[in-house]
Amino acid sequence: METSHDTFADKLLGFTLPSRNARARIVRLDRVLDEILSAHDYPPPITHLLSEALVLAALMGGLLKADSDDAQLTMQAQTRDGVVSLLVCDYRGGCLRGYVDFDADRLADLGANSGLSALFGQGYLAITFETGGGRRYQGIVPLEGDSLSEACQMYFSQSEQVPTLIRAASSSNSSGRIAAGLLIQHLADGEVGRERLHVRMDHPDWEHVSIMTASVTHEELLDQNLSLEDVVWRLFHEEDGVRIQPGQSLARGCRCSPAHYTSVISRFPEDERDAMRGENGKIAVDCAFCARTFELAI
Ligand SMILES: [Zn+2]
Repeated sequence: METSHDTFADKLLGFTLPSRNARARIVRLDRVLDEILSAHDYPPPITHLLSEALVLAALMGGLLKADSDDAQLTMQAQTRDGVVSLLVCDYRGGCLRGYVDFDADRLADLGANSGLSALFGQGYLAITFETGGGRRYQGIVPLEGDSLSEACQMYFSQSEQVPTLIRAASSSNSSGRIAAGLLIQHLADGEVGRERLHVRMDHPDWEHVSIMTASVTHEELLDQNLSLEDVVWRLFHEEDGVRIQPGQSLARGCRCSPAHYTSVISRFPEDERDAMRGENGKIAVDCAFCARTFELAI
């Protein structure tokens, strides 16, 4: 039996390449992923999809300023007539959660053909950054291309005008599932306080950084013998400088609790609450993230 071994996972690390005006986030999920998936009994294509979505939520959530308690990143995919009808993930202060709603019969009919358009049909992805203090901005992109990562790249280049490259990988092994990803962006000269005249996807620094980033393999991202710092070092050790920021450990986190739902439901008028009651006189509320039902006696 294996003793506990640091898989360098359930961590989010930020780094910058100052001489290239690039910033990046790298993440690896291990136990957190298994905890989130264990609340559900998803078939492999859905497990794969949610694994990638959680990696993306962590990477994009990692761009939020860590000093704001109520900063949150939410990623929501919706479709009109997709096999997957809903996918939601969010990230807040190092906590991740997510779930998927899908039609099991139609999924079984798809067989191996489980690309984005097969899963989502006509779908779109909404990415919402809540940056704290009630500030919020959202971008919506169509779910096209081969992966959720591609859709997120499109969000950054179209909605935010920031050249962005994302790599994500996941796999299953005997001890569960592991997933990882890397996001890197080119911030145009000056970034804060200076007007950006235009977005250049062909800036020489960005071309260089994106080629180096694209060279990362799925095996390197998922290799449990490599720390996240090791992966960054392999890719960028020839740069003038790599600034690694303090890491953030990640956890599965949901805000559902009897107290939370009691406070929500108690805002409804008495007659509406009566209409919600089951035969036992209690009000049942489901948390889709946790696949749990809370029975409230209020
Ligand atoms: Zn929950």
